[in-house]
Formats: sequence, C-alpha cells, structure tokens
Amino acid sequence: MSSLHTMGQQQDRRSWAEPYKIKVVEPLRTTTREEREAAIADAGYNTFLLPSKDVYIDLLTDSGTNAMSDRQWAGMMLGDEAYAGSGNYYRLEDTIRRFYGYRHVVPTHQGRGAENLLSQSLISPGHHVPGNMYFTTTRFHQEKAGATFHDIIVDEAHDPTLDAPFKGNVDLAKLAALIDEVGAERIPYVCVAATVNMAGGQPISMANMRAVRELTQRHGIAIYLDATRAVENALFIREREEGYGSTSLADILLEFCSYSDGCTMSGKKDPLTNIGGWLATNDEALFEEARNLVVVYEGLHTYGGMAGRDMEAMAIGITESVELAYMKSRVGQVRYLGELLDQWGIPFVRPVGGHGIFLDARGFYPHLDQEQFPAQTLAAQLYLEAGVRAMERGIVSAGRDAATGENHHPSLELVRLTIPRRVYTQAHMDVVAESVKACYDDREAARGLRMTYEPKYLRFFQARFEPLG
Ligand SMILES: *Cc1c(COP(=O)(O)O)cnc(C)c1O
Repeated sequence: MSSLHTMGQQQDRRSWAEPYKIKVVEPLRTTTREEREAAIADAGYNTFLLPSKDVYIDLLTDSGTNAMSDRQWAGMMLGDEAYAGSGNYYRLEDTIRRFYGYRHVVPTHQGRGAENLLSQSLISPGHHVPGNMYFTTTRFHQEKAGATFHDIIVDEAHDPTLDAPFKGNVDLAKLAALIDEVGAERIPYVCVAATVNMAGGQPISMANMRAVRELTQRHGIAIYLDATRAVENALFIREREEGYGSTSLADILLEFCSYSDGCTMSGKKDPLTNIGGWLATNDEALFEEARNLVVVYEGLHTYGGMAGRDMEAMAIGITESVELAYMKSRVGQVRYLGELLDQWGIPFVRPVGGHGIFLDARGFYPHLDQEQFPAQTLAAQLYLEAGVRAMERGIVSAGRDAATGENHHPSLELVRLTIPRRVYTQAHMDVVAESVKACYDDREAARGLRMTYEPKYLRFFQARFEPLG
C-alpha cells in the first residue's frame, strides 16, 4: 500500500496543494442524528429529496456545484443580456471552436437540452444508437426519439474490482457486430462518452477513439461525443497513454474531439459553471435543424436558455479547465479520498475515476438482493451516519426496459461520492472517508428498502422508499 505522501499523480515525494486560495467562504451546518433521521424519512430515503440545508458535505453530484473563480465572477459583470446576438455568445462560440475544435455551436440550458436537440434531429423510430455504457438523460432522449440503445463498452467496465487504465473504451467487436446485425443505415451515430460517468468516471484512450473513428467512417456512421468530462479524460490520456506524457491537455482535447463530428455538453461539469450547455457539430444540416429546434425548447440560438453572464462565465471556465495544475488537483483530490478508503479495505470501483468514488454496494451488503436496493440503502445510511449526501447508481437509476417494462438489472450497484470542483478541502475528504468506514463497520445491520412511489421517467430523481424489516 502506498503512503499518503506518494499518492496522486506525483512523481516525487513532495506534497501538493490546490492551485488556488479561498476568497469567499460559505458556512456549513451540522445536524444531530435525530434531525437526520427525520429528514431522510421525510425524503422517502431518497437523497435527491433532501433539502440541502440538512446536508453537511454534499457529494450528490459534481454537476453545477462548481466553485467559480474570481475571473469568472468578474466575467459575470460583463453579461450582455441582449435577446439576440449577445457578445457573450460570440465569445463562447470562439472558445468552443478554439478548445473543442467544432465549427458550429448551439447553446442550451444544460446538457440534456443538447441531447434533446441531437436525438430529435438525427434519430427516427427503428434506429439503433450504440454507446459506451448509457447515461440516464442521454439514453432517455435517444429512446424517446425512437432508438434502441446498445451498450458497446468493453466488458472490463462491468467488473468493479478490475484495475485497468481505460475501462471506458468501446469494444470494437461489439460495435462491428451491431453494424452487421442492424445495418449501418439504421445507426445515425455512435454516442461516445468521455469519461464514462456510469462506469465510475473511467476514461477512454486516444487509440480507442481513433479506432472507433476508423471503423465507423468505413460505414459512413457519425460519432457524437458526450463531452461533459472530456478534459478530465484528457488528463488520464496524458498520464496513462504512451506518447502523451508531455502533451498539453488542450492539445489532447483537440485531437480527441477531432475524431468525432460534434458533441453534447453539460456546462455544469468540466466548464466550471453552475448552469449551461451546448450542442456542437461540424455537420451543416444538423446545425441548421438544431438551430431551428432550439428556439422551441431552449431559447434563441444565441442564448439557448442561458443568461449572457452565464455564457461569459462558461467561456472563461473552459479556458481554466484545461490548465494542468488545476486538473491534476481536481483528480488528485478524488484519488486522495480513494487512498483513504483503500486503507480500510472498503470496496469501490477500481481504478479511481475522474470525478468521484463509486462505492460497491454489493460488496457492502452481500446479504441484500438487488431488488432490495443495496445502493439506495447505502446512500441513506451514509446520510444518517454523518450528513454526507451521495447518490445511487444502480438498479433504481437503471430504470425499466422501455419495451418489456421489466427492471433493468445493471451489473454495477454503486453509490457515487462525487467531488464538486474547487469546493471542498482535503480535511472534508478525511471526514467523508471516516463516515464511509463507519457505514462499512455497521454493514451487517442493513436491511434494505422497498419502493413506495415510482415516477414514470428517470425514477431515481423522485422515487420514494421505506425501510424493510
Ligand atoms: C450530467 C451529464 C449529462 C447531462 O447534463 P445536464 O447538464 O445535467 O443536463 C449527460 N451526460 C453525462 C455523462 C453527464 O454526466
């Protein structure tokens, strides 16, 4: 086991620190066990339904929870709130072209707005969309537009204990078999996510991306990136892939995106803002269609549901996200938490991914059936223990099969401890690790949950539960 001093991305033995200092603070509130018992019962044992005032350390998501820099806040004052042709839009468009390399940009209120535009524009009923594992909103929009989703991620991604460098890779044989089976003309595009959120923030390699491009190009199939954490992915390529050890993140990102035709983007992740997103494409026809549709669902094509100031903050955030020192500390903080948990033998997905630690709830609760919601149970337990909020990524998130109505039974039954960018300190990570350990020590007492209310769409957000036994 390596010591805490050598962990993270350091080659030498010196400690590292965040490449920023704190200028504004937001006080945290602690609660008593009794208060937490009442709060989680009120929330139907679903951490999404907890008011944030009852949460001490909030690791629900890294989405929109970013701390902005002084530059970004200064940029907010430069908001040009014109209905049409805001200067901030042009700055954002320039920045996206420069860092991601795509020709056209359609702004949206967040990532799912872009997914809606892309899916509605390119998918017809009877189509098939392959992806390197699914993401909840992405797959939802694909299915709603009439497509059948196919998971083409490498098998290693489904094994939480396997330590491999690029568990987000596309399995080329699976993709080739699907093309054979359904025909290229029924595959409007391949959806490639970098990193793969649902697999534990696992990266995809440049070589794999290049190979996917070669294969799909032969069949005339487009590739759309889910680029939400493509800059985090770039750091993994730099660290793990031969030939990129001294390439800048910006150059890696540009090359990576060059193997795709466009992307959907959540500005709430890599771009270091609290809201926003975009669809980017090199395809003139898609651009035309999406720019038309965006006015129905989001807003005019030069704001897409964002305020001018938000677009400005996002443009600045993109330039900050590719700074190496920042990205090393962002991923380094996640690794620090993983190292602490490792010391106590706590089961979590290997290797540590980019944006969080994914606890293996089956490893905590081997005595619970998947239909007793082990991950949902663990997330509730962690809140009760210490006021730490996490998220279920297992059978509840996987939802039901659109055709048969049966529950999907994902091989991964996880609780995600997602680390917001630039928000918490290493001391907070110590507290989180100790809270997880307390749940692990008490694991045999867990009895599981029963679902008492199930919403029709994306049920994990609003489902309610009751303790069993
Ligand atoms: C967050 C996320 C999305 C959706 O973005 P929103 O901004 O939340 O709508 C899509 N894909 C992945 C991988 C994400 O993490």
